[in-house]
Amino acid sequence: MEQNKDIIVKAENLSVHFPVKGGNPFNRKYVKAVSDVSLEIHRGETFGLVGESGCGKSTFANALLGILKPTDGKVIFEGQDLNALKPKQFKELRRNMQMIFQDPYSSLNPRFDLLEIIGEPMVIRGGYTPQEIEERVVEMLELVGLSREDLHRYPSDFSGGQRQRIGIARAIILNPSFLVCDEPVSALDVSVHAQILNLLDDIQKKSGLTYLFISHNLAVVKSICDHMAVMYLGKVMECGDTKKIYENTLHPYTKALLSAVLDIDVDNPRERIILQGDIPSPINPPAGCRFCQRCPNAMDICAKCEPKLVEIEPDHKIACHLYKECRPE
Ligand code: SF4
Repeated sequence: MEQNKDIIVKAENLSVHFPVKGGNPFNRKYVKAVSDVSLEIHRGETFGLVGESGCGKSTFANALLGILKPTDGKVIFEGQDLNALKPKQFKELRRNMQMIFQDPYSSLNPRFDLLEIIGEPMVIRGGYTPQEIEERVVEMLELVGLSREDLHRYPSDFSGGQRQRIGIARAIILNPSFLVCDEPVSALDVSVHAQILNLLDDIQKKSGLTYLFISHNLAVVKSICDHMAVMYLGKVMECGDTKKIYENTLHPYTKALLSAVLDIDVDNPRERIILQGDIPSPINPPAGCRFCQRCPNAMDICAKCEPKLVEIEPDHKIACHLYKECRPE
């Protein structure tokens, strides 16, 4: 297979559906968490994935990491199809993909000290002496702004921001090339958001690490992401270059999300778009455009026919019937 070395990971028509428990076994229903999503993430960039809770962001990320098996489609990481790998090959490749979690309180084992928590991936991998592990853990502690004195302290001795630093140190100790950051600052005090984001930025500059940054905070995504995708009910509504999407927002859903971001231009305030209703059930999503029940611009065609995700300008795609390019021929 020809490999574009610039692309570290890509999803090709990826779908993840979960069977609903109970009910009629002859008419099994499925939660369509992710449906036919194709995205590419370039080496060394930060890619933002945004959308409301329950839109499929975390399920998509888990499928990219091989934690969830896709119902359909493929994940290609470093040129290799994850599903086609043998378990041993997958385990080896998986070390290059790590994750930091939203909640630094529950993601660290309270009975382990920092040497055990941060060094655990090296212990699992094997082949290192205790001294090598300790030296590498100290190196990681210093990289994330902690010190050798913290080696034998426990998570309860640290603040939320420091615990997230510990989670980052653990995630990067094996030198991964791809890191999923799942809402890494949303559980933290606002005063430490910038510190954690700056730390991630510093690490990326030093190591060339690629980030998938999952967030519902569009202001943060604007400031740190090179590319982004907006998801709604398991589908991509708009994606591409972050600057282009913010300067020329095209999709009604993206416009509504952006209108809710705190406006600092008091002379020229943005019009707030209030979406009516809730996200429909992913068990029975609308037949046409998934956003049609809440869209202020919905037309007849929207309920009947699904718009295609089409490039409207270079590096900027949308799926919306307001643009004739997205309508089927
Ligand atoms: Fe709204 Fe129709 Fe565009 Fe969907 S396709 S976002 S319903 S205008």
